[in-house]
Amino acid sequence: MTAVLDNDIPLEKVALERYVPPAKPSLVGLTRAALAEALGAVGVAPSQQKMRVQQLWHWIYVRGAQSFSQMTSVSKEMHVVLDRHYTLARPEVVAEQISVDGTRKWLLRLPGETEGERPHEVECVYIPESDRGTLCVSSQVGCTLTCSFCHTGTQRLVRNLTPGEIVGQVMVARDRLGDFTGMERAQGPGLPTGGERAISNIVMMGMGEPLYNFEAVRDALAVVQDGDGIAISRRRITLSTSGVVPMIERAGAEIGVMLAISLHAVRDELRDKLVPLNRKYPIAELLEACRNYPGVSNSRRITFEYVMLKDVNDSLEDAEALVRLLKGIPAKINLIPFNPWPGSPYECSEWDRIEKFSEIVFDAGYASPVRTPRGRDILAACGQLKSATEKLSARERMALRAMAMTD
Ligand code: SAH
Ligand code: SF4
Repeated sequence: MTAVLDNDIPLEKVALERYVPPAKPSLVGLTRAALAEALGAVGVAPSQQKMRVQQLWHWIYVRGAQSFSQMTSVSKEMHVVLDRHYTLARPEVVAEQISVDGTRKWLLRLPGETEGERPHEVECVYIPESDRGTLCVSSQVGCTLTCSFCHTGTQRLVRNLTPGEIVGQVMVARDRLGDFTGMERAQGPGLPTGGERAISNIVMMGMGEPLYNFEAVRDALAVVQDGDGIAISRRRITLSTSGVVPMIERAGAEIGVMLAISLHAVRDELRDKLVPLNRKYPIAELLEACRNYPGVSNSRRITFEYVMLKDVNDSLEDAEALVRLLKGIPAKINLIPFNPWPGSPYECSEWDRIEKFSEIVFDAGYASPVRTPRGRDILAACGQLKSATEKLSARERMALRAMAMTD
């Protein structure tokens, strides 16, 4: 089979912002400032807010409390007040799949009204390895972008996740893995058996383009990094972008985590087809933004992701061009074997070719790990995520569009 390269892949789809948050909001995922504000709104005096935020923070993020009544250091009167106005809800687990290799995938239903639509759902994946446990987190329901090799890119309905829904994925994973202080650890293939944390690393590599949901991702990652709570350091968090050039500098300045770029091609002509956003922000501009990424250095390298597509971008000339292109940028190159999905128009490169490609990159002085596909049997590997939210009929979609237009 030869790959289908469609010149007419649209660049972006329109994001749908029809979503009504639950009447009783969850306090999970609020920044410290937003939490103080939420407490102020139910009568906690300004002089008390900092102390209360600290108490709640500990119960929510260290102990994993799911109800206010568990918070034994908080007064009973306060439990009643909080309970009347707020919850500690996380997204609801609709399905859990465990791969033979220990990878776990959760399908999560997000709270709130969706006004006649199917419930909004996202996927979140946990990948245990011998030296770490990585959680792959989504930033949007679907993705407005349309990369031709990505399953998420085919999902039509899109909305941005709130910070609570992003942090909520980490909370659900910690609940399921028993990764909060005082909880019993989950058992299973690949899971840590010692005292180390189950989730040591976070990658914003699930569904969606994180830099198209900038503020929510920034706030959520601030919560995840907070040293008195989940406490995952910024060096253990990686944000992957398909190349939203105008946001890259802000990401470095305001989020400050490790950066990964979905490069996938060394020529604009091909990248335009694989990652249509390239038509807006071509390779030269993208690499210039990488050179200027705040904090980039040899100890904080940018990862360039390169999906290996048979006979499309995997020639040895491409490998040579890749190392020439990245000259002068502190970089790592991550070769990703293409993960097929139902109806995908590409094939994965031959293993032999991936090895030769990797050798050229390695000989040029770059670390060039090949990303071992994990959880392929449960469609949990890179680019295979897609929730059923999109599965509306043409008629349902038209009705929605009509509703949106009459707003
Ligand atoms: N939207 C962001 C982050 C999510 S995708 C981005 O594009 O960077 C995470 C990584 O998986 C990206 O590098 C993406 O290009 C890659 N990917 C997407 N579909 C894939 C597939 N079918 N096989 C292998 N990698 C894929
Ligand atoms: Fe969106 Fe990333 Fe998939 Fe492209 S690869 S469609 S940006 S999730």
